[in-house]
This record gives sequence, C-alpha cells and structure tokens, in this order.
Amino acid sequence: MFSNKLLFAPSRFNTITSSMNNPQQPDPPKKRVVVCGGGIIGVCTAYFLSKKGAAVTLVEQSSIACAASGKAGGFLAFDWCDGGPVSSLARASFNLHRSLAQELDGVESYGYRPVNTLSLSVTESGKPNRKSTVPGWIDGPVKSPRTIGTIETTAQVHPQLFTRKLMEKAMAEYGVEVVIGKVKSVETGGGKVTALLEGGGVIDGDAVVLALGPWTSKFKLLESVVRVHGLKAHSVVLEPKDVDAISADALFLSYQPAHGGPPMDPEIYPRPTGEVYICGMSSQEEVPDDPEQIEPNPDSIRVLKRVAGTVSSHLGEESRVKAEQACFLPCTDDSVPVIGEIPGMAGCYVATGHSCWGILNGPATGAAVAELVMDGSSTIVDLTRFSPARFVRK
Ligand SMILES: Cc1cc2nc3c(=O)[nH]c(=O)nc-3n(C[C@H](O)[C@H](O)[C@H](O)COP(=O)(O)OP(=O)(O)OC[C@H]3O[C@@H](n4cnc5c(N)ncnc54)[C@H](O)[C@@H]3O)c2cc1C
Repeated sequence: MFSNKLLFAPSRFNTITSSMNNPQQPDPPKKRVVVCGGGIIGVCTAYFLSKKGAAVTLVEQSSIACAASGKAGGFLAFDWCDGGPVSSLARASFNLHRSLAQELDGVESYGYRPVNTLSLSVTESGKPNRKSTVPGWIDGPVKSPRTIGTIETTAQVHPQLFTRKLMEKAMAEYGVEVVIGKVKSVETGGGKVTALLEGGGVIDGDAVVLALGPWTSKFKLLESVVRVHGLKAHSVVLEPKDVDAISADALFLSYQPAHGGPPMDPEIYPRPTGEVYICGMSSQEEVPDDPEQIEPNPDSIRVLKRVAGTVSSHLGEESRVKAEQACFLPCTDDSVPVIGEIPGMAGCYVATGHSCWGILNGPATGAAVAELVMDGSSTIVDLTRFSPARFVRK
C-alpha cells in the first residue's frame, strides 16, 4: 500500500488467535487511526490510542524524536503552570510521567529522576562563590540561590530516549506501525480519512491526528485553521571529566554577561548519564522543511558554552562536547496548545502548540486525544480550552 518504507509490521497473530477462540463472534474491526508526526506528542498519542485498542499507523518524515522532542531539556514540573490554562494538563501529565517511568523502567531506560531545582543569579564578571550555600560543583560567580522545586515537584527525563522507548513499547506490545514518509495532505469524508504521502503512498483510516509541531503551519490543510510559529532555541550537551562531582540539581539562571547586553535566562540540567545539558538563546527564524537541515547558530553555541564554564569549572573547556544543536518550539498565537477536532472536518484532529512544555505535557495530551478519538470526549483533562474552534472566525 505504501511506496514509503514500512519500518515495522506487527504480527497479525493476536487478532487471528482471538477470533479463532470464538469463531461465531469475530472481533469487531478496530478503529484505524493515522497519527502524523513522530515527536513526543504524536508518539504519546499513538501509544495511548493503541493501548485503547485502535489500530495505529504513525507517519514521520525523518526519524522518531528527530526535532525538539529529541533535543529538549526534559525538565518536568508539577505545579509551575498553576493559575494558567495549562495547569490541569501539566499536573495530570507530571503524574503520568511518574507512572510511565514505573511501567517502562524509566529510571534505567530514559533517565527519569526527581530533581531539586534552584534559581541563581550569575554575574559573569563577578567573584567566584566561596560559600557552601550551593552544591560544590557550582563554583562560579553565583548568588541569591533559591529552591524553586523539590524532588516532590520537579523531575526530568532524557526526552529522546523517553520518546523512542514509548514508541518501541507501542510497536512491540500494541502493534503500532511506523511509516517513514512525509504527509502531503489529508482528505476526509463519509466517515473515513485518507492521508496522502509524498511519493504516492496512501494510508486510509477512520481518524487522523496531526501532531506536526512547528511544521503545522506549513501543512496546507491547517494553515487557515491555526497558526503555529516556530521559535528557534539552542542547546549544548557537555560531559564533564568528573561526572560524580555533579549533583541532581536543575538550575534556572538569571545571567548578566560581562560586556553589557541584555540579561539572559539559560537553564542547566545535569543528567543521570553524567552529561550536562545547557539551553537558551532563542530567535525568530523560518522553520526549514526538513528537520535535518536545522543548524545551530555558532554565536549562540559559543555563548551557551561560556555560560556553562562560568557557572562551573567542571563545565569549562576540559569537558567533552557531546552535542551542539538547535530546534524549534511550536508556539500558537495565544500561547495555549491547540488540541481537538478541527471544525468542519469530522475525524481530523490536531495536537500541537506546547511551546516550552511539550515534554512535560506530552503524556496527558496523548492520553486525552486517545480518549477524544475513541470515546468522543476526554476525562483525564477537559480539552474545551484547547479547542481549535477558538481560531475559527464566526
Ligand atoms: C531548547 C529546548 C528545550 C526544551 N526543554 C523542554 C523541557 O525541559 N521541558 C518541556 O516540557 N519541554 C521542553 N521543550 C519543549 C518541547 O521540546 C516541545 O514542546 C515538544 O518537543 C514539541 O513536541 P511535538 O511533538 O509537538 O513537536 P516536534 O518534536 O517538533 O515533532 C514534530 C514531528 O512532526 C514531524 N513532521 C512534521 N511535518 C510532517 C509531515 N508533513 N509528515 C510527517 N512528519 C512530519 C517532524 O519531522 C517532527 O518529528 C524544549 C524545547 C526546546 C527547543
């Protein structure tokens, strides 16, 4: 059926065996759902849909977690979105991350761990911190440490390992098929959907979920429904020589560069693998068609390395550089994710716009969309606030 490469075709034995047990009553046909986009939102959606009994095909143009979902920090917070529209989604998703970590052996397989979180002021030209009010590895010119998260309220995952682990589980246990190919358009009608792929592939289904991240607005069908722009952000991953010196503390910095310029707010996340992730430096840029074409700006990378070396001598020039990278946050015009059925297109759903909280909110988004598609409404989170209907002119 596809001209594109089918990565994994699950065995059909389960279906055959169960109908053979009771030949009089064949199993009802499964709802067939096509999920477009293999970032954390698409993968979580595919996982929960398949767990609820859907026959899912996920289509990804490059590779699973190739974009922001593979290059993000992976920081999770229970209550930091309180008081805003994403509050209940975030709380539900934080808890879901905890239970998924048990189900998927997340501590071992994708570095899930609760962390303490500090905010710090850093003046690049200041004097090194000699007081023991912060963990010893933070030996640069830092002041005003404040605990802003504890192991009860903040945690982390390695986002690429998490997304790929969940995909593997969905394929191996729930029969999700992955197709590498670019979805060109989607047609709906008569209770059916058809996804058309570049190169001529066609995938039929009963519903389709578009989880295209910052590529949403490049998709013709959606450009008039919802505008999602990409905000480019940078990160470096360092491996310090003495990995044991680094404690499990996430750092949120208010950073004043030495030679003037506006203050910055980079973040530093040590990971249980021994590597340390540093991110920041965002800019408005056009999202390239191909995620593999996203290149970091050398100046932004240089600044992030300087930040790391200023905060800790363990993160200076002697540490090994494991990655210098950039990716795009998917942002909506009103800064609220867009999750729901597209008005006037029965069976066609969208899930994107999670901005800087997509890793946190991926699991609850996936679980809620799965309920919406399979049962007609979501119980895990009220999705009314996220409906794409808010963008449609009356
Ligand atoms: C530097 C940085 C740090 C971050 N840190 C955190 C953090 O600590 N915690 C947190 O919660 N969030 C964080 N985020 C945010 C988070 O990474 C994003 O919100 C999230 O990854 C978005 O996931 P997504 O699945 O919507 O999009 P993406 O990860 O961009 O995935 C979209 C996928 O769709 C595919 N695609 C697009 N068009 C097509 C098509 N036509 N056909 C087939 N496939 C297609 C793409 O190839 C891509 O794989 C960070 C983001 C950045 C940039």
